[in-house]
Amino acid sequence: MWRIRIHGRGGQGIKTASQILGSAGFYSGFQAQDFPLYGAERRGAPVIAFTRISEDIILERGPISSPDIILIGDETLLNDPQSAPLCGAEPTTLIFVNSSHTPESLSQKFSLITANLNDLCLQHLNNRTVYSSALSAVGARLLGNIDLQDLLQAVEDELTPHGISSSALKGNLDLAREIFASLQPVDILRKEEKVLTAKSLVLPSQLPVVDGAPIILEPGNMALRKTGNWRVERPEIDYEKCNNCLICYARCPDGVIGIAPDGRPEIDYDHCKGCLICAQECPGHFIHTVREMGTFP
Ligand code: SF4
Ligand code: SF4
Repeated sequence: MWRIRIHGRGGQGIKTASQILGSAGFYSGFQAQDFPLYGAERRGAPVIAFTRISEDIILERGPISSPDIILIGDETLLNDPQSAPLCGAEPTTLIFVNSSHTPESLSQKFSLITANLNDLCLQHLNNRTVYSSALSAVGARLLGNIDLQDLLQAVEDELTPHGISSSALKGNLDLAREIFASLQPVDILRKEEKVLTAKSLVLPSQLPVVDGAPIILEPGNMALRKTGNWRVERPEIDYEKCNNCLICYARCPDGVIGIAPDGRPEIDYDHCKGCLICAQECPGHFIHTVREMGTFP
């Protein structure tokens, strides 16, 4: 069995990437299983999805704690303690990171493969941060046992129910084709098959409410949750051109644009989650966006 874990953020198509990869594996003659794991958070919050592909029937269930392949859609997750994408990685685990950095500059400890998917996504999808087709193509190619035609069929089958236009579907197919052609399969050392016995089953039990429910110790503690590390792209106000109309202040859904003593809008980067609504709403387009590279400057 190949166990694949995919990390990204809400809105990047991580769940769909695992579905495409699972379907592509199934079309290539394997058994497949895929599912996501995320909480009640919103766009930008860390998301994990899992895919199992096997020659035999898959009896294993639940999250993959010890993956053979880790696909990381967003390099800023590498220092996000909530996401912890390298958790369970061993020296033999194949790790792919969507990054413009070289593998050596990201980690000396693990063997990584990097590629800058953002530019390819922008070129084919006119959107830098939708990775469903891109990451599934990376996974399919690195596995080396999935046919390109099966991958393309899976892209089409999984995206069509979302009501995607024919031009957007073509962009996704071209993107998957280009990424598939640009990478080489890797010899992946699979973990030994685990034998599940009745003894190894974990029986769920309900905790008392005081243990199982969140306890809010302080009133008004929302500000303590710093959502600034959810950002994939950072909005930056061009103060040379900004005319202080404050439309961005009114439109920010999280209320993280304040007004400085001199009347200028001011972004609180500790809490700005990078939805970029402000950049869309600024009438003069005086807010531009910069890719976050904060993890490894
Ligand atoms: S990107 Fe703009 S609109 Fe979105 S949270 Fe940040 S400041 Fe607010
Ligand atoms: S919407 Fe644009 S022009 Fe208006 S305050 Fe914000 S950045 Fe300045």
